[in-house]
Amino acid sequence: MAYDYDLFTIGAGSGGVRASRLASQYGAKVAIAEESRVGGTCVVRGCVPKKLFVYASEFSHAFHDAKGFGWTPGKASFDWQTLVANKDAEIDRLNGIYISNLEKAGVEIHHSRAVFKDQHTVYLVEEDRNVTAETILISAGGSPWVDENVAGHELGFTSNEAFHLDKLPSRIAVVGGGYIAVEFACIFAGLGVETSLIYRGPKLLKNFDSDISAQLHKELQAKNIKLVLETTCKKIEQVGSEKHILLDNGETLVTEELMWAVGRRPKTQGMGLENAGVETGRGGAIITDNQHRTSQENIYALGDVTDRVNLTPVAIREGIAFAETKYNNNPTQIDYDAIPKAVFSQPPVGTVGMTEEEAGEAGIEVDVYKSDFRPMKNILSGNTERMLMKLIVDRQSDKVLGCHLIGHEVPEMIQCLAIPIKHGITKAEFDETCALHPSAAEELVMLQKAS
Ligand code: NDP
Repeated sequence: MAYDYDLFTIGAGSGGVRASRLASQYGAKVAIAEESRVGGTCVVRGCVPKKLFVYASEFSHAFHDAKGFGWTPGKASFDWQTLVANKDAEIDRLNGIYISNLEKAGVEIHHSRAVFKDQHTVYLVEEDRNVTAETILISAGGSPWVDENVAGHELGFTSNEAFHLDKLPSRIAVVGGGYIAVEFACIFAGLGVETSLIYRGPKLLKNFDSDISAQLHKELQAKNIKLVLETTCKKIEQVGSEKHILLDNGETLVTEELMWAVGRRPKTQGMGLENAGVETGRGGAIITDNQHRTSQENIYALGDVTDRVNLTPVAIREGIAFAETKYNNNPTQIDYDAIPKAVFSQPPVGTVGMTEEEAGEAGIEVDVYKSDFRPMKNILSGNTERMLMKLIVDRQSDKVLGCHLIGHEVPEMIQCLAIPIKHGITKAEFDETCALHPSAAEELVMLQKAS
């Protein structure tokens, strides 16, 4: 049977775009559907605009620190509309690059929602027609989830809306204790917003190393972020220009705006997966094998829609692996080990490999090497922010199993450290490496065993 396309991709985010471009370059006839903007979460409402907001919010700390170095900064003021407009211009630029890269690769773009009719057919809603494909790839990503059981939940917004607020509020409560909650709490606080962080557990970033999380708590409090821990929102009410958040610990927190950052869910609702017999699992995630194949042999899925490792570079690698395997006769599997991660809090967190807790759970005997210090940059400024560095080392083999950092610029360090750690570097090899002085990173080759 002849199909309209060899490959039809649903979702033009990082993974879908890479897979489609490559497949087309390898000779397949490819089309892609996107109901929103080409570029997906990372480019349009995630990593990129978030990082631009992080840069913006860091200036307030820099103005403060400058005084200790002899500067007398003028009265700084901040204009939210300028930031949003400049950020939007950059997102437009990147969106254009993504579109032109797809076109150059020969991929047909459909600006439409796509809904499965059957295993080989999707209905393009905006074009009101069906198209068929031999292979269909689902790379529809995820979207913020909100607990609709909380009365008044609709008074809050999510990260989707945070990038286009009409005005910067004077007070905000961010709900959640993961990546997005911590990053946005720091963004708002840095921009001068009185910020509270409401989290149901005792430990922010609960899957990260405990020392890192404990240090983060201290640093957020030092930046005047109010941590409201071990409680959840029961009810939210609009009272005049204020939002009153009734917490289940009996307290009421008064704020101007509320941002939900309680996780993201795979975007599979309403896609007609049942018409194609594609099985989903926890939270609607599409179930795939290690070749990214779903329960239907001609339908594949990758990226956040599979809720495996929800990170842009992972989705891109999955897209490459899919295209190489399927369209270049080059079977390629993803290695999910030692993926470096960063949280762009202030200070940021960088991590790769096992935490001390994970090593313990796996029954591996480890030695822990640690350093907690105030970096040189913070001495004259009077900034109390500290750095914490931690290596988890296998006692038997001396291999570095994990590295966990918090402090200025650590995402840049952890990307470089991920290379030797992934390839089995030992602690002795760290120590054989000469320090680079003066730097904060030099501590990494001089770490002492924690007592
Ligand atoms: P996370 O999974 O990181 O955090 C979700 C948070 O919401 C957790 O603290 C969770 O609590 C809390 N939560 C969940 N359900 C409820 C509830 N019913 N009531 C109150 N709190 C609740 O999700 P994010 O949305 O922050 O980020 C999604 C993913 O996107 C991340 O996991 C990451 O993969 C990716 N991402 C990566 C970034 C980066 O690389 N820098 C930046 C942003 C996102 P608990 O911990 O108790 O379960």
